[in-house]
Parts: sequence; structure tokens; C-alpha cells
Amino acid sequence: MTHLGFERAADAADASHRLGTGPGAQILAGGTGTVDLMRLGVTAPERLVEILDLRAEHAAILFGRAGASIGALATMAEVAAHPAIRARWTAVAEALNQSASPQIRNAATIGGNLLQRTRCAYFRDAASPCNKRRPGTGCSALEGGLTWDLAILGTSPHCIANYPGDLAVALSALDASITVVGADGNWRSVAVEDLHREPGERPDLDTVLGAGDLILAAHLPELHWSRSSYLKVRDRESYAFALVSVAVALRLEEGRIVDLRIVLGGLATKPLRCRAAEEAVRGRSLDLHLAAQAAALCLEGAQVDAERAFKAEQGRRAIARALLAAGGHEKAACRVVFRGGF
Ligand code: FAD
Repeated sequence: MTHLGFERAADAADASHRLGTGPGAQILAGGTGTVDLMRLGVTAPERLVEILDLRAEHAAILFGRAGASIGALATMAEVAAHPAIRARWTAVAEALNQSASPQIRNAATIGGNLLQRTRCAYFRDAASPCNKRRPGTGCSALEGGLTWDLAILGTSPHCIANYPGDLAVALSALDASITVVGADGNWRSVAVEDLHREPGERPDLDTVLGAGDLILAAHLPELHWSRSSYLKVRDRESYAFALVSVAVALRLEEGRIVDLRIVLGGLATKPLRCRAAEEAVRGRSLDLHLAAQAAALCLEGAQVDAERAFKAEQGRRAIARALLAAGGHEKAACRVVFRGGF
């Protein structure tokens, strides 16, 4: 029988202390990801440090001159339903509302959502070789397995698992950051854009965070954007992970795009910002042609095989559609969907 320790942290300092004391500790927030992976035998922590009592101090959604601050223990449902988040940081509410199910959104937290692990079937099957789960054992997907729903961007010869979450994609587009306290008690800020890692030689390292790091809050800078939106394409319209997702934040002046950020989910090993496409669009008036050009740039360097070829085409259309819709060109966006004629 495996021994599992269970501890309840009273506050952030207590949680940091517990995480920094002895090996094998893992944070337990809503538990919707952690318990799932333990049941599957994918992870086997020695101690769970439950942090739900931190809700007293770290679940509030606050607004100030610098923007919004969302406590890491706020639930996905609380953030998605907040009127100011819905009205001003629309992509965040849209991403959360299209995530998981209402039951999961009621239990799952913002910190846990950002750190969810890939849904790659081989990672979740404890019997299959997987470099992310057990470094050096190989990649079952690349070695003759099914690849159809996996990443086509940011991959490495060791791993093509895609990042499954929605929220981090929207937060990256809005230039958000997180506050993290380390096991040593020191606080630091990490841009959400820089939080996740491409697999490279170390697919087992999903993020830049260390073992004892605790996320305390996410910060959305005061609005620089005229509008933001999140488009998710999936197998069914609810309760499914993204095959492709696109978050767009745009600043428009007299019809011209003076600034924008485009971030992809579903297609890549991490929420992926498309700087080349952003450069191509900045300063210009948006039309079908420009959206198509930007979409093609986003997918430059995509690694596709016969199974995943559809994701490149789906990605191209989703990006163009998201850009046009965010720019107020609804009719042109429909043309992309129904005719592919661009
Ligand atoms: P936990 O399960 O408690 O923790 C998850 C991970 O984060 C663990 O490694 C934990 O140690 C760590 N962690 C938690 N909080 C912190 C913190 N404050 N600081 C540092 N580390 C922390 N997500 C989507 O985005 N889109 C979807 O469509 C979607 N569909 C889903 C469908 C199903 C059936 C399920 C089970 C999940 C789905 N999810 C989806 C994932 C779900 O959103 C996550 O499981 C959930 O957000 C995790 O939050 P949690 O509070 O339960 O985290």
C-alpha cells in the first residue's frame, strides 16, 4: 500500500513552509486535475498540501489603477461570471466559459487551471513510454502512435504533447502576469506568456516554476486593448478540450490596428504567441487578405503528418476568423468558416 500524507495549509507562508519541508509534496487546490492523475497512476505524490483555506486571502477579484488582480484560489466559475471581467477582459471570461463543465468550473481554481498537465493519451496511460511522464522512455506518439490531436507547433523530437488549457491562452494575449511565492518565501512576478515551456530536451518540465512555487494571483494590466476575444474549435461544443484555439487582443484607431497580440492554444506545446503575424498586421487596416496573411505566418514551421494535417488548415481558418471577428468584420469572418475562400 502506498502511503499518502495529507496536510492543510493555513495561509501562504504556511503552504510555502510545508512545500519546502521534505520531498514529495504537491499542492492540492480544487483537485480536479491532481486527483485524476493520481488515480491513473501518472503521478504519485508522497504528501498533498491542500491550500483551499487560502481562499480567505487569495480568492478575491480586485480592481485598481493598474488593472485587475485575480486571487489564485478564485474558482473558474467565479472569474467567468464577474461582470467587470466579462465586460473589459472579455477573452478571459470567454475562455473560462468554454472550459470543462459547470461542475468542474465550480471546483477548479485559477492557479490549478494554469498548471494543468497535457491530455496526451500516452502521458495519461501509465503503461505507455512517455518522455514527459518518465524522461528517457521515448515518445509513444512519435514512435508509431496516434497523433491527430497533438501539437504541430513548438514540438521537439522528444515530445509533441499539446498544452490543453484555455485560460493561459487568453491571459497571454492580454499580457497578464502571475505572482509566485517560492519555498524560500520570496515573491516574484512571471509573465503568463513565459510561464510554460516548449518541451525541447526536457518535456518533463512543463513550466518555469520550481517544485515549491505557489501561485498567489494573476494580474491583468489596465486595458490597452479596444477588444479581446477567444475562439475555441473542438470536437463538440461543450466539455471538450481545444483542437485549436485563438486569443486575440486588438487596439483599433479609426479602423487601423495600432497594436495586437495573437496567442494560439490546442495547436502548440505551450500557449504560443505569434509575433511575426502581429508585426505583419500592426498599423494596417484589417481585411480578409491581411487576416489570411497573418494566419499563414502563425503556422509557419508547423510540423504536420497525415493525421495532423487537418489541424494546420483548421488553425489557419480559426486565426483568420478570430482576427476578423475581433476587428468587427463579422461577415468576412463567416466567409472564412463557410467557404474557406480566402
Ligand atoms: P488541482 O487539480 O488541485 O491542481 C492542478 C495542478 O496545479 C497541480 O499540479 C497542483 O499542484 C497545481 N496547483 C494548483 N494550485 C496551485 C497554486 N496556487 N500554485 C501552484 N500550483 C498549484 N481545462 C481547460 O482549460 N479547458 C477545458 O476544456 C477543460 N476540460 C476539462 C474536462 C475535464 C473532464 C477535466 C477533469 C478537466 C478539464 N479541464 C479543462 C482542466 C481543469 O480546468 C483543471 O483540472 C482545473 O482547472 C485544475 O484546477 P484545480 O484547482 O482543480 O487544480
